Amino acid sequence: MPEKCRWCVGPGECDAWPCSMAKEADKNGFFTPDLTVKELLKASHDTAKQKGWWEKERPFGDQVSNFHGEVSEAWEEYRKYGLDPAKFLYFVDGKPEGIAAELADVLIRIADTCAHYGIDLTEAIRVKLEYNKTRSYRHGNKLA
Ligand SMILES: [Mg+2]
Repeated sequence: MPEKCRWCVGPGECDAWPCSMAKEADKNGFFTPDLTVKELLKASHDTAKQKGWWEKERPFGDQVSNFHGEVSEAWEEYRKYGLDPAKFLYFVDGKPEGIAAELADVLIRIADTCAHYGIDLTEAIRVKLEYNKTRSYRHGNKLA
């Protein structure tokens, strides 16, 4: 039985990186160079529009609920596999799964929503990173 690369799980061929499943995923553009926040917003929103998610207005509360949904999916991956690096990102029938895939979904949904409403996420991240530097140690001794 061939050794499986970290991207594969279950039945399927894998002769280690880049295996056939990784190559197939790459055709879908999953393995892209680092994106800027601006590029992430555009790519996320363009795809969401192309897939029909913005044919009619969607309530902002629904969007935020979907952020929660993706976080919950990351939690479910953690419950299944813990913090096994081999399970951070894997493929089942060509679909990316794992904690990393679900956290990516969080960012993609947030980026899509920000792009739709014209929210400048790049500036907000910049502002928050700078602000956080000014906060007290553990923000006043909070537990978490
Ligand atoms: Mg998901």
